[in-house]
Amino acid sequence: MSDIRNEDLFEVARQFFPGGVNSPVRAFGSVGGTPRFIQSAAGCRITDAEGSEYIDFVGSWGPMILGHAHPGILEAISQALQDGTSFGAPTERENQLASLIVQMMPGVEMVRLTSSGTEATMSALRLARGITERDLCIKFEGCYHGHADSFLVAAGSGAATHGHPSSPGVPSATADLTCVVPYNDLESVTDFMGEKGDQVAAIIVEPIAGNMGCVLPAAGFLEGLRELCTQHGAMLIFDEVMTGFRVHPGGAQGLLGIDPDLTTLGKIVGGGMPMGVVCGPRSAMEQFSPIGPIYQAGTLSGNPLSVAAGIALLTELNNSSGEIYRDLEAKGQRLEEGWKQALEGHGITHCWNRVGSMFGLFFTEGPVTDFAQAATSDQELFRRFFHGLLREGVAIAPSPFEAGFLSMAHSDADIDQSTVAIEALSL
Ligand SMILES: *Cc1c(COP(=O)(O)O)cnc(C)c1O
Repeated sequence: MSDIRNEDLFEVARQFFPGGVNSPVRAFGSVGGTPRFIQSAAGCRITDAEGSEYIDFVGSWGPMILGHAHPGILEAISQALQDGTSFGAPTERENQLASLIVQMMPGVEMVRLTSSGTEATMSALRLARGITERDLCIKFEGCYHGHADSFLVAAGSGAATHGHPSSPGVPSATADLTCVVPYNDLESVTDFMGEKGDQVAAIIVEPIAGNMGCVLPAAGFLEGLRELCTQHGAMLIFDEVMTGFRVHPGGAQGLLGIDPDLTTLGKIVGGGMPMGVVCGPRSAMEQFSPIGPIYQAGTLSGNPLSVAAGIALLTELNNSSGEIYRDLEAKGQRLEEGWKQALEGHGITHCWNRVGSMFGLFFTEGPVTDFAQAATSDQELFRRFFHGLLREGVAIAPSPFEAGFLSMAHSDADIDQSTVAIEALSL
């Protein structure tokens, strides 16, 4: 056992990093307390600096669909490592990864690799603006598309108006180009498009939302967006950074049978290494530089280690011919039934949303169909739930507005252990 304490590490970290972290949600801001400094992870378990072990339902916020430290992925990275870590030049592995993505995602003919999901969505919006020669974009409240200026925008007053910056530093002139609409509110989008559709470059949406907990698209919502975009000559961007390869081998678009004009990927596609992807039909993608006029670049884009990890993971998902996703659905069902029963045992009002191995738990009556509903969740109860689970050796995301994830490494016994942990809580 080491005698290093999370608290001491956090104190040092706070001297070096704003809030002690390199991405805000890690700081436990909405639940309080000390973040666990992770020493290592394997399968469905993570171990912190104090040697405490947790069943992990965060999965590095999505990528770890096969579990942590998956041997095949480690092997692929370690092989690539022997050849060097970065060349700033094209590699054969990039072709292999692209070929897998094209094979798995419907409607994708070409890809551009980036180093993060943020870069992917930012570049997708630039591409849509460049192609349509329009400036406006529509996004949905509670959807997260990374931290580019155009997406850090909060709703103005009224159902569908121009937004204002949700962070200092975002120019109001930029926020003014983004309209923020409640998720699943097709009527407001229809009204806005009726008024300004000829100025709208793109509608960007998480086809299954995962950044306000897990929220499903209502029947007809995505179909309606598809129709409106076609009708008004705007581009439909599915931000599948979270759902891509998570809910189906072909992402949410494969699961739901809706074709966007552009797709963004991240998280799973990099196998736990930094990676993002903008992809779509050749006609749109060839507008990117160097062949087209729309500029996009990245010194470390297509990094050999990330690409190797991505190939290993996607190959496994692609070769399983659906078995992995059937397994994940069964695990999801088991978790849902167990947790629901345990929560009912405590007499706790809750609402559960789930697609396969991606789930959202809200301490509110529900149904939760948009951000306003998600926000009615009892946050004080969540705080107690979160810390109680942590003490019982179960780690969920340190915020009531995050989706949870299962992996292939979660056995029935692991899932049942997490249920028993909930039963043991005094809430
Ligand atoms: C995580 C996420 C992003 C941002 O990706 P980063 O790699 O963190 O920049 C964008 N969109 C969605 C839907 C995400 O879940």
